[in-house]
Amino acid sequence: MIRRGSDFDESDVRIRPSRRGSRPRSKDRPSHDDALPGFVIGVDRGRYTVLVRAGVGGRTLPERTVIAMRARELGRKGIVVGDDVGLVGDTSGSPDALARIVKLSPRRSVLRRTADDTDPVERVIVANPDQLVIVSALANPEPRPRLIDRCLVAAYAAGLDPLLVLTKADLRDPTDFLANYAPLNVPFIVTSTAGDGFDGLEALQDKLIGRVSVFVGHSGVGKSTLVNGLVPEAHRAIGNVNVVTGRGRHTSSSAVALRLPGDQGWVIDTPGVRSFGLAHVDLDHVIEHFPDLEPGTEQCPRGCSHDEEECGLDAWVESGRAGPAGASRLESLRRLLRARSGEAAD
Ligand code: GDP
Ligand code: ZN
Repeated sequence: MIRRGSDFDESDVRIRPSRRGSRPRSKDRPSHDDALPGFVIGVDRGRYTVLVRAGVGGRTLPERTVIAMRARELGRKGIVVGDDVGLVGDTSGSPDALARIVKLSPRRSVLRRTADDTDPVERVIVANPDQLVIVSALANPEPRPRLIDRCLVAAYAAGLDPLLVLTKADLRDPTDFLANYAPLNVPFIVTSTAGDGFDGLEALQDKLIGRVSVFVGHSGVGKSTLVNGLVPEAHRAIGNVNVVTGRGRHTSSSAVALRLPGDQGWVIDTPGVRSFGLAHVDLDHVIEHFPDLEPGTEQCPRGCSHDEEECGLDAWVESGRAGPAGASRLESLRRLLRARSGEAAD
C-alpha cells in the first residue's frame, strides 16, 4: 500500500529503545480536557475552518471562525466538513492564529463520495448530515432519473431524509415528473426563479430549519442559484461566473458548510460532487430502498439477485402495479446492482 506523507503520524516514528530514560510517547500527550468545541465548516489543503461558538468553556470571546490544522496525535483519522472537533492552541480567531484539532467526535452519519478514476476509494466528504437535498431541473438540463434514484439509495443507506428539489418549473410543468415519483413518497419542493420572485424558496427554507442539509445536483440544475437564495452572503458562482468577482467558478470539489440566516440550520454545498458512493451498501438490501418494486419480489425465486431471467420484477412492472415509472425504476435498480457487483459503473 502506498502511503502519502500526510498519512504518517508520530506512531510511525520509531523511538530508539537504547535511549534510556525516554518515556513512551503516549505519556507525553496531554489529555486536552480543555479543548474548545468547534464545528468544521471548510477544508482547504490541510487547513480547517472551524466555527467556535461564543461563550464556550466560559471564555468571553465572541463567536468566531478559527483556522486550524490537524494534530499529529489524531493519527490517520480524516476530518471533514460537518465534524465536531476539539481545539487547542491559538483559538482567538485572529488572522494569523493557527489552532490545532486534537479531538474528533464520533459521527452520527456520513456521506461518501463516489469512487472515480483519479481516486478509486470512496471517501467520507460530509460528517453528521441530517438530510440529503437532491436538486434536479425539470428541464434544461433534462432530469436524470437514474442519478436521482442513486442519490435516494445513498440517502436511505446513510440514514438521511431525502428531499427532492425540482427547479426551473417555469420551463416545464412538474406534473408528469411528480407522477413518476409519487409511489416513492419522497418529499419534494418545486422552485422557479421566473418573474421577480423565487417560487418555492420559502417552502424549502421551512424544510431546512434546525438541520444540516447536504445539497447535491449535477452542473446547471440551479443548485448555486438555490444556495444563494437561501444564504445570500454565500456568493456561490452562478452559471460558471462568480457573482462577486465576475471570474470563473472555482473548481474545488471540497464541501463547504453555509449557515442559514438567523442560525436556522446549515446548508452544505458539494461543488463537483455528482453522486455519492454506495460501495458500503449491502446488495441484499438495495431492493428495500425501492418500495415501489419490493412487493413484486414475492414472485421471485429464492435468493433472486433481481438481475436474472427468473426475476419476478419484470412481470410486476408490466402489471402496472409499480406505477408509471416502474420500468425506469427497475432499470435503475439493476444498474445499481451491477455497479455494486463491479460489472459496470453508472
Ligand atoms: P448549478 O450549476 O447547479 O449551480 O446551476 P446555477 O445555479 O449556476 O444555474 C444554472 C443556470 O440556470 C443559470 O443560468 C441560472 O440563472 C439558471 N436557473 C437557475 N434557476 C432557474 C429557474 O428556476 N428557472 C430558469 N429558467 N433558469 C434558472
Ligand atoms: Zn427478483
